[in-house]
Amino acid sequence: MDKQRYERPLIKKLESNMPNKFGTRTEYLPKTHIDDVAVTELADKYGSPLFVLSEKTLRSNIRNAKKAFETRYPKVQFAWSYKTNYNDAVCRVLHQEGSWAEVVSGFEYDKALNNGVEGSKILFNGPDKTDDDLKKAITNESIIHIDHLDEFYAIKEIAGNLNKDVNVAIRVNMDTGVYPMWDRFGFNFENGQAWDVLNRIMRSDIMTLVGLHTHIGTFMLSPNAYAVAAGKLAELAIGIKEKFDHEVSYIDMGGGFASNNTLKGAYLPGTDISPSINDFAEAITSALISSNFEHDKLPLLILETGRALVDDAGYLIGSVLSNKRLSDGRRSTILDVGVNILFTSFWYDHKITPAQPFTQYTEDTVLYGPLCMNIDIIRDHISLPLLNKGDKVVIHNVGAYNMTQWMQFITLRPKIVLIDIEGNTHIIREDEKLQNLLDVEKVPDHLKDFEL
Ligand SMILES: *Cc1c(COP(=O)(O)O)cnc(C)c1O
Repeated sequence: MDKQRYERPLIKKLESNMPNKFGTRTEYLPKTHIDDVAVTELADKYGSPLFVLSEKTLRSNIRNAKKAFETRYPKVQFAWSYKTNYNDAVCRVLHQEGSWAEVVSGFEYDKALNNGVEGSKILFNGPDKTDDDLKKAITNESIIHIDHLDEFYAIKEIAGNLNKDVNVAIRVNMDTGVYPMWDRFGFNFENGQAWDVLNRIMRSDIMTLVGLHTHIGTFMLSPNAYAVAAGKLAELAIGIKEKFDHEVSYIDMGGGFASNNTLKGAYLPGTDISPSINDFAEAITSALISSNFEHDKLPLLILETGRALVDDAGYLIGSVLSNKRLSDGRRSTILDVGVNILFTSFWYDHKITPAQPFTQYTEDTVLYGPLCMNIDIIRDHISLPLLNKGDKVVIHNVGAYNMTQWMQFITLRPKIVLIDIEGNTHIIREDEKLQNLLDVEKVPDHLKDFEL
């Protein structure tokens, strides 16, 4: 018989089944499997920590999103936001589901080309497009979403030198009733900047205005803000039709739909308050349909949804390194998962569940990462059953932004594994090795030798 572990008894508030003033009751069920693959097996085979992506969830998310929009609007196109997760396997799942690419840098642009996306299906956003990037995008007939006037003039000059027509859209920022307003990208609607650049584009003979774009924010909890934004873009498009007798072929509503994560300080969990993709689809499509577009001339609707498609397809498996009491008596648990690979722990209270069965006792716990840094806190308060060294935990909803914003710091970055539809596992990114770092470092000759 195994040695029984001693668990310190404690007095705690009784949690009833009904929602109380702290929200719904926290459920303590272990997360033993991800898509029918045992978490312990994954950790044994691929190591810990380990990012795991569910192809099944990813495909079902994009299909649901398409359905939500296509059942309400005649012409819909999704474009995958590369910066949300540009792992090639993830991008290719979305491209297989019909998504174009949405990129915000030359590096992302090259990654999309390398994935086999044709130039005309890459939407190029962002404030940082070098002359070389622009030249490449114009040559490949990509659509450039102009961010500022300096870019407008650069495109005009480069396209002129190449003697090649270029398809452009502008990014528009606007007051949608959600503050702070994201007015640093693109041209403002209310103060006339948008019209100013539109007039210049329409008067240029080398640029064709094909679309209007906005991306009003990220982790947006208000579908109505999208209705306002869609209404304003429709107004611009109709104004262009009236003034120049020119029709834009698409309206691009960007991304930003909230996922099911819980923002720090939120009163209720994200699963309870985040609007569904249907709520966003309803707001956007009804604003477009009830605008003054002629019935049979509705523009193509483009969506650049990122986090809402990939967040809940991603898991991070971690292991308990140790438990200790803080000086004030609080329980703390140290995991092998640091904030360097879980960037989103700075703004979310991630759901974290043990991967093995446990006893009924729970205690408020601080979850630390392994970094030798005071800010390395994964959760500052979480009610968890008692975990022991070597136990595994699963961190949920980590598919968006972590595998792009993670950094190599103190530790090396872990593997990413994809579980395919059949339940087979594939390494889609190797763990980082010391050699990967040495490959890019250089030691000057005079620093090569030393004696101690
Ligand atoms: C980041 C970004 C997106 C995706 O945003 P999510 O919040 O991940 O949905 C879409 N479009 C643009 C221009 C972006 O910068």
